[in-house]
Amino acid sequence: MFETLIRGATIVNAEGFERCDVGVSDGSIAALLPPGETASARAVVDAAGAYLLPGLVDAHAHLRDPGLTHKEDFSSGTHAAALGGVTTVLDMPTDEPWTATGEQLANKMATAAGRLHVDVGLQAVLSRDLSLIPRLLDLRPVSFELFTADVPDDFLFATLDAVAEALKAFAGSDTLIGISPGDQSILTGSTMRDRSGTIAAFQASRPPLAEANGIARALVAAASAEARIHVRQINSELGVEAWSRLRGMADASVETTPQNLFFNANDYGMQGANLKASPPLRSPHDVDALRAALRAGLIDIVATDHAPHTPAEKAAPYAAFADIPGGMPGLQTLLQTMLKLVDENLITLPDLVRLCARNPAERFGLARRKGRIATGYDADMLILDPRHSSMIANADQVSRAGYTPFDGWTVQARLTSVFLRGREIVREGKRIGPKIGTIVTRES
Ligand SMILES: [Zn+2]
Repeated sequence: MFETLIRGATIVNAEGFERCDVGVSDGSIAALLPPGETASARAVVDAAGAYLLPGLVDAHAHLRDPGLTHKEDFSSGTHAAALGGVTTVLDMPTDEPWTATGEQLANKMATAAGRLHVDVGLQAVLSRDLSLIPRLLDLRPVSFELFTADVPDDFLFATLDAVAEALKAFAGSDTLIGISPGDQSILTGSTMRDRSGTIAAFQASRPPLAEANGIARALVAAASAEARIHVRQINSELGVEAWSRLRGMADASVETTPQNLFFNANDYGMQGANLKASPPLRSPHDVDALRAALRAGLIDIVATDHAPHTPAEKAAPYAAFADIPGGMPGLQTLLQTMLKLVDENLITLPDLVRLCARNPAERFGLARRKGRIATGYDADMLILDPRHSSMIANADQVSRAGYTPFDGWTVQARLTSVFLRGREIVREGKRIGPKIGTIVTRES
C-alpha cells in the first residue's frame, strides 16, 4: 500500500516522456506503474492530462541568511522557491558572515533548521586560508565557491597562480568548485579609466573579455589540477565562444540565468536598478549567441542567481550605476521563465528538466536523490497542467524583493501541485502544510 498514488500523468525526465502512475512511500518514489494498474494507496491524486516533473534544483541562489535577513531569509526565500516549483535550493555563501569556516557552515545549518519550506544545500566559500578546507569538507557542503574578481580581499583569487593553487587542494576529488568568471585587472583598469558612473562604465568594468578570460583560466587551471569545476553564469558571445572551444579540457559545467536569456542592455531603460546585476546585461547579439548555445546543448544548467534586495535599497539614489546593489529575485519565476522558452520552442520540457533538475543534482552531489522521477529518488514532484496558462505578477511574489523583472508575462501551463519528499507543500499557488524542508549534503 502506497502513501500516495499519482494517476494519469505523463512523466517528464531529462531523457523524455513516459506514461506512468507513480507510487510514493516514506518520502520516496516507491514504484513507477503501467498506467491504470491496480494498486492501493492512502491518497490518490488524479493527474490525468497533466505532466509530472521532478522538483527543480536551483544551483545558484542567495538566501541572505544569516546577517542580511532584511533582504531575504531562509523562510521567505524557500517560500518563494516552493511556489516556483524549486524543491531544492543550493544556497551561495555570500551572506554575513560569508560561509568560510567549518564553524560558520555548521552555524548556518543550525540557523536553517525548522525554517525551510524546501530542501536546501549549502555552498562554502574558499578563502585565501586554504587550511580551512578539511573541516569544511567534513560537513559535506554541496560545493565550494571560488571568486576571481569583485569580492573582498580575503576571498579574492585574482591571479592564475592563486586559482591553480586553490584548485590543487581538490585534485582528484569529486567535490565541485563553482567559479565566477571575471578578471580583477580589467575591473581595476577600466574603473581607473572611466569614473563617469554611467551604465556604460559599469559594462566596461565587467566586459565579455573579462568573462571569456575568466572561463579560459578556470578551465586550464582545472585541467592542470584535475579538479571538477562549475562556471557561474555566462552571458556573452565571447564567453560562449571560449566555453565551447575549451570546455572539453576539464571536468566542467556551465550555467546561465533566465534574465540573461530574455533581457539585453536596452532593457536598463525600462527597469534600470531592478535589472542591475553582475555580469551586466549584454547586447541583443550576445543574447542570441547565448540562446543558440542553449539550443545546441552547450549550456548545462540554468540557475536563477536569486539575489534579492529590499525595494528601498533598489530605489535609493546612488552616485554610480555600479553602486546599485546587484541582483534580482528569481526563485519563484524559474519554472515559468523556462516554460516561456518551451513556448518559444527554444527548448523542450525534457530539456527544462535536464537544465534545472537533473544536471544541477548530478553536478552538485545529489545525483542519487534529486533531479529525476525514478524508483528510490526523493518524491519531489511538480504537477503541471498544460491546459491552463499562468501569469507572473509582482503582487504574487513572496520574496522580500517585492518584484519580479518578468511582471505581466503569461506562459502556457500552470503549476498545480508541488510535492517535497512525498508531501504536498503547494496547491494552486498556495503553500500548504508545515515547513518540512531540510539541509541536504553532498552524497559520499
Ligand atoms: Zn550570485
